[in-house]
Amino acid sequence: MAINAVKGTRDILAPEICNWTKYEEMARKLFRRYGFEEIRTPIFEYTEVFSRGIGEDTDIVHKEMYTFADRKGRSITLRPESTASVVRSYIEHRMDLQARVKRLFYIGPMFRYERPQKGRYRQFYQTGAEVFGSSHPYVDADTIEMVVRLLRDLGLTGLRVDINSVGCRECRPDYRSALQEYLSGHREELCEDCQRRMNNNPLRVLDCKVPGCGEVVKNAPSIQDHLCGGCLEHQHQVLHFLDVLGVTYQLATDLVRGLDYYTRTVFEVISEGLGAQNAILGGGRYDNLVKELGGPDVPAFGWALGMDRLMMVLGDRQLSTPDPTYFVLPIGNELAYAIETSVALKDAGHHAVVLAEASSLKSGLKQISKAGGRFAILAGESERERNILILRDMENSAQREIPVGDLLKEIENEIAE
Ligand code: AMP
Repeated sequence: MAINAVKGTRDILAPEICNWTKYEEMARKLFRRYGFEEIRTPIFEYTEVFSRGIGEDTDIVHKEMYTFADRKGRSITLRPESTASVVRSYIEHRMDLQARVKRLFYIGPMFRYERPQKGRYRQFYQTGAEVFGSSHPYVDADTIEMVVRLLRDLGLTGLRVDINSVGCRECRPDYRSALQEYLSGHREELCEDCQRRMNNNPLRVLDCKVPGCGEVVKNAPSIQDHLCGGCLEHQHQVLHFLDVLGVTYQLATDLVRGLDYYTRTVFEVISEGLGAQNAILGGGRYDNLVKELGGPDVPAFGWALGMDRLMMVLGDRQLSTPDPTYFVLPIGNELAYAIETSVALKDAGHHAVVLAEASSLKSGLKQISKAGGRFAILAGESERERNILILRDMENSAQREIPVGDLLKEIENEIAE
């Protein structure tokens, strides 16, 4: 019996993959424009990196991690997100000594044991940015503007930037108790999960998608009324710099995000066309995480973008038209002539494939059509003797003879058209 991909995972195939590679190329270029360096951390870490980094009481750590014991019995986890891994690496390599402000980005797969649905997978892909070493509100605004620009360069519209502050160690406890007090008066109206969250992590209730909880949350106290002077000023400055940078946003006072490590700024970018799983990316400031994971006291800001959802929003829109592949078809005994032709094409940077297995002209042309090829180059004995090739446009079956010496020039004209 044939074996299928694991539930919640999938193969990304052509033509969809063309948008993925083009997007990655655009993202890498953009990151460099903003002073970011790429980082590739392992896809698995000691479990502690995530349990301490993300927080024991989050959904991710509580029920979504792929955790297993390796052969020596050490607890290993496939990364459910990358911020904790990047922080681990930042600390391990003493990057705080390399530069006052360190800007890093990553692109790669993440793993979460969630219930698969449209836009939600167990292996999914994220692009992320992390800035270490500055608590300046401009960094928040600049890093948000960068991703807004990326989305705009991709041609996306119908996007909304929601932004909020979740306060800091000074003011959050105060808000937490006010919220807890309010929620305890509405205990019976909350879902089972929120009844638990209410005690351990009441802010998470604000995030709950269950309609009953949404109703309760509507009248809950707002964190905006509990921010300390420092947090209020930070928020004010971030919004100011977003204005300076020309980014439009909406203050979303119930936005808290699902991870524990955030302080002050949190934000999300929502695509209005996406349905229930409508957040394409999210992030915020995390000024205590580096220290909590055993590193120096270094503030940070970052975001992670869900590439699967981004691709869904792009839909059938193509980010680029790939250069055509030339299928070189040997006729009769002329494989060597076909190979020579393909080598010349490849030397000049074109895409060329020799159809060595075609048994006849007819079957070769059929193969090319099936592969969606636009151009065939026919290489037979009489063509070799006359030092020419035949270029066939598969779309209208038009054929013309081209002297071998003119082939590259002709092809370049064809591509330029
Ligand atoms: P998070 O790390 O939870 O803040 O998620 C950041 C972004 O990653 C989200 O806005 C989604 O676009 C994407 N994402 C998170 N979980 C999944 C998943 N299971 N499948 C696909 N995309 C996801």
